[in-house]
Amino acid sequence: MTRTLLGVWAHPDDETFLSSGLVLAARERGDRVVLVTATRGEHGTDDPAAWPPARLGRHRERELEAALAVLGVDEHRFLGHRDGACADATEPMAARAIATIIEEVAPDTIVTFGPDGVTGHPDHRAVGRWTTRARNAVAPGAELLRAVLAPGFTRRFADVNAAFGVFLDEPADEVVPGLHLRLDGAHLDRKIEAMLAQDSQTRRLVDGVGLAVFRRWWGEEAFLVEAGSGAGAGVAASARAA
Ligand SMILES: [Zn+2]
Repeated sequence: MTRTLLGVWAHPDDETFLSSGLVLAARERGDRVVLVTATRGEHGTDDPAAWPPARLGRHRERELEAALAVLGVDEHRFLGHRDGACADATEPMAARAIATIIEEVAPDTIVTFGPDGVTGHPDHRAVGRWTTRARNAVAPGAELLRAVLAPGFTRRFADVNAAFGVFLDEPADEVVPGLHLRLDGAHLDRKIEAMLAQDSQTRRLVDGVGLAVFRRWWGEEAFLVEAGSGAGAGVAASARAA
């Protein structure tokens, strides 16, 4: 039975950092994967003079296309929110736009950010709230996965997290995930390739820590799992069994 995975994220690269393993496993099973990104990440630079928002937005759109090609995803949509302003959006309207996509795509599993937005980013938290609200409203039968820190991430990578400002505030308390993926082999290679395709965001990290540490740093993915009320087995259940 073909299943459908819908991912809803805030910026180009969130999908790759947080769900590449999940997406690759789904595509290998022949599942449909649809990804949605709220913004074009047009303010994601330390050098806005060289990268004014319109230029960076176009650039990140192309980077995202390249990353999605590596992950085998050919269905993607933008929601058109302004980077950095998701928390200012009217939540019922923002959730409604996602609900419309959920109704159209009819996913078995929906993946988004956990309550802390993983890194604490306000855009991440907002998109996680909107998506959870939309799923609860129109698709309570769908399994809901919410990305959280991988077990041990805060402790093992304390130095690099601090050096590269991964967390906007204090790291969230670690929780026991319902689904914990440890990527290796071809999956990890492809995740890293997809991350490197988004050079505007990953270059300084790779240059800073070296590729070997970078691979370990982002080699795990973790999710809270809320089973759907529907009868079908979610993507998480099959990923766990794989
Ligand atoms: Zn992000």
